[in-house]
Amino acid sequence: MSEKVIDVQDAWRERALIDDAKYKDMYTASVSDPDAFWAEHGKRIDWSTPFTKVKNTSFAPGNISIKWFEDGKTNVALNCIDRHLETRGDQTAIIWEGDDPNESKHITYRQLHAEVCRMANVLRNRGVGKGDRVTLYLPMIPEAAYAMLACARLGAIHAIVFGGFSPDSLASRINGCGSKVVITADEGLRGGRKVPLKANVDEAIKRVEKDLVEHVIVVQRTGGNVAMEPGRDVYYHEAAEQVTDDCPAEAVDAEHPLFILYTSGSTGQPKGVVHTTGGYLVYASMTHQYVFDYHDGDVYWCTADVGWVTGHSYIVYGPLANGATTLMFEGIPTYPSNSRFWEVVDKHNVNIFYTAPTAIRSLMGGGEGPVKKTSRKSLRVLGSVGEPINPEAWEWYYNVVGEQRCSIVDTWWQTETGGILITPLPGATKLKPGSATRPFFGVQPVMVDAEGKELEGKCEGNLCIKDSWPGQMRTVYGDHERFEQTYFSTYKNLYFTGDGARRDDDGYYWITGRVDDVINVSGHRMGTAEVESSLVAHPKVSEAAVVGYPHNVKGQGIYAYVTLNEGLEGDDTLRKELVTWVRKDIGPIASPDLIQFAPGLPKTRSGKIMRRILRKIAEDDFGSLGDTSTLAEPAVVDDLIENRQNRA
Ligand code: ATP
Ligand code: MG
Repeated sequence: MSEKVIDVQDAWRERALIDDAKYKDMYTASVSDPDAFWAEHGKRIDWSTPFTKVKNTSFAPGNISIKWFEDGKTNVALNCIDRHLETRGDQTAIIWEGDDPNESKHITYRQLHAEVCRMANVLRNRGVGKGDRVTLYLPMIPEAAYAMLACARLGAIHAIVFGGFSPDSLASRINGCGSKVVITADEGLRGGRKVPLKANVDEAIKRVEKDLVEHVIVVQRTGGNVAMEPGRDVYYHEAAEQVTDDCPAEAVDAEHPLFILYTSGSTGQPKGVVHTTGGYLVYASMTHQYVFDYHDGDVYWCTADVGWVTGHSYIVYGPLANGATTLMFEGIPTYPSNSRFWEVVDKHNVNIFYTAPTAIRSLMGGGEGPVKKTSRKSLRVLGSVGEPINPEAWEWYYNVVGEQRCSIVDTWWQTETGGILITPLPGATKLKPGSATRPFFGVQPVMVDAEGKELEGKCEGNLCIKDSWPGQMRTVYGDHERFEQTYFSTYKNLYFTGDGARRDDDGYYWITGRVDDVINVSGHRMGTAEVESSLVAHPKVSEAAVVGYPHNVKGQGIYAYVTLNEGLEGDDTLRKELVTWVRKDIGPIASPDLIQFAPGLPKTRSGKIMRRILRKIAEDDFGSLGDTSTLAEPAVVDDLIENRQNRA
């Protein structure tokens, strides 16, 4: 893999909140005396009742218990809105950019306050109070943020279901958390196409427990014609006329649940992750400020959907707790053209931009033209999250999008972690393309081998975390046993991430993919990320996914699914060329045995490649593909099965 090092530029360091010396001091303090460190940083949010206890956590078998700031009381909406009113009431809190490039608006903190209070009153009038679950099935419109904050204001627990999910997935999630209220929109709008949200809710409700859902609140987005069931369904704008824009906030315990959110389902059945109030908000806001080097007045844009944890922590809660201006985008990167991201950057003078490798790779496939025709001069920090970013894509992001002027933060984290755990800090960390670099404050990564023995220094193994951090998930909703089983039973006294990694001589971490995806070729263990990065570095390749399959001689053979750049066709000559390429780049051991050219790869709705499905196809075992409910385009699977490669 690339061993290139990019130094911290003077301009980044001079502006930054944290330089390398400060990183080292703070990191040492955070792990040597977590109580003192977090007692201080816990004060970055306002508390109605200040905490006196800081950390009370145990990873011990049979007693997995995680509590932070447990005797404090606070409210997330007060911290994200009310406390800013005096100093920045007229500052823009949310810039909303519609799917249609001619549609956008600015919402100030004062307006946000009024909108959230109204939404909270609408919910309160329908019996929603502390501890009640509310399912949100919404497009990327400001009302999604209002609804989240309205729930938080009342002490209710939101459970967001991504607007691209089917009625079936929605039904199982409504049932799973027992929501009596669903908030949706008539229709969503993405890439010029309408998404029938309300119709999907109607379908879903037919499949949930009878009489569970008492109220469906419908935000009018397109004005499309939808069925409204009297007594159950109400248009939001009509209900909002009946209430005031003043609503008291319920002070809740630090450990009161804030939301339930399902993982992406890359590795199996999605898990209902529970995050709570105080520790989560402290961690989300602190990482947002330091990782993106956020300063007052900056315009910050995270392209995720609020249906993912990234949207929770880094569109809504982290930025708003910091009094930031956060941009919310309804559309997609390729509509109306491949330049859309960069046009939005210019339109709103975005300083900090945070997206996923899948978006970078797909835009890269379209060449530099669509990027180069925009200015992008406002950009300062570029972030990546969701998958390992191949060095090739990293360099394109750095050189083409950021013109070698912007720092890159490759942030590694999970739904379960609540916030970023491993990441560079713009003013502190030398960059290595493809490495998530070093741990954030309070985070102690450890590498273990298959038997759970801790590895020292430079090594490759399974990534675990030694001790708790405030943003950690507290349980799997309604199933603490599964929580313990999934994360704490593989290696005793450690949180197991499920990811493989290597650590280099500088102590930098390189995520190599899911541990389940590691392949073993003639006794050599290999992460899929390495072979994929090599393939993607070939000028004709846009995306690649690698899995193992049973091989008579080698134990496992390497099966590569390769998507070529727009307009290219694959043939045997190109297959040979790719094999030679990887052989030269990594070594003969990594040469793909079979290469299938695939127009599309199976991805989760958040853009991650689902290798477990590819593995089944490569193993000729595609009768049952497992949970495919979170697949973005189920149709690509049929093509993959039809055109699978036969082993010799
Ligand atoms: P499930 O847990 O249901 O299988 P998932 O793991 O894809 O789904 P998420 O919580 O959305 O659900 O994703 C977290 C995972 O994404 C991490 O465990 C890691 O594999 C990957 N990931 C996220 N950010 C990065 C990054 N910067 N570098 C490498 N991998 C990353
Ligand atoms: Mg996961």
